[in-house]
Amino acid sequence: MSEMERVGGRLTVVATPIGNLGDLSPRAERVLAEADVILCEDTRHTRGLLSARGIRASGRLVALHQHNEASQVDEVVRRVLAGEHVALVSDAGTPGISDPGSRVVMAVADAGGVVSTIPGPSAVVAALSVSGLETERFVMEGFVPRRAGERRARFDEWVRESRTIVFYESPQRIAETMAELADRCGDRRVALVRELTKMYEEVRRGTVAELAESLRDRTTLGEVVVVLEGARETHIDTSSLEGTLRDLLKSGRSVRDAVNELSHDVGVPHRELYQLALTLRDQEE
Ligand code: SAM
Repeated sequence: MSEMERVGGRLTVVATPIGNLGDLSPRAERVLAEADVILCEDTRHTRGLLSARGIRASGRLVALHQHNEASQVDEVVRRVLAGEHVALVSDAGTPGISDPGSRVVMAVADAGGVVSTIPGPSAVVAALSVSGLETERFVMEGFVPRRAGERRARFDEWVRESRTIVFYESPQRIAETMAELADRCGDRRVALVRELTKMYEEVRRGTVAELAESLRDRTTLGEVVVVLEGARETHIDTSSLEGTLRDLLKSGRSVRDAVNELSHDVGVPHRELYQLALTLRDQEE
């Protein structure tokens, strides 16, 4: 018997389709039919999902969105501890992943309540799995910030990030984002994953520069996830960096400060620079 079937009061995080109703699992349907309460981002949207599967909403839907999640937390904890079965869904995909939900999960867990999952669709994992890029180590960056300064800082971080990077972007901003990325890492491979599980599902692969060019002055429609190749291992030309590093150490900087300064300027992996700095310091001593 699973934990879900054994325990009374609980919060169940239920993944729902990201475009294709057929992806709602039988377990998800059962939980949505049986739960005492269904927390949902948009009650109208979830009502539509339930009615498409022949499940009655019968007064069980409670809105839980980014504007009221904080104020709903105590009530959700109270219900779970009182023995109710509370289901949590978002409009699409897995709740809590760039969607509301993580606060109530945290609160119920902190209060000692049971949190279980009905896993299923999530745009992040679905996009990564069809990207054709390295999947062993990846980092999920959510939505790209809109403010210019924050965007720049985020993109600068990605220049050095060696893991595969997955992020969400709106169709209105995707061309601009790819153009900005092309200035920094135009030769990296990228997959633009659009409309997963829907009629116009598409994966466009190429270098960042190629895709930026193909998107220029075009309208992109539908929902988009971008999967960007991580930075390849850079082989340091140690002869050119040695002098700079030696000077920084001689000026009294610690190994750590010297490495931080230089790795920021030249964008080479911290680890390799650190090793080189230690060797130089030992030679000096
Ligand atoms: N929690 C959701 C999940 O687990 O998939 C993600 C929610 S986030 C608010 C919505 C973003 O996910 C969209 O802007 C888009 O970037 C991506 N997305 C959702 N459905 C998609 C689909 N069918 N195809 C491509 N991207 C999708």
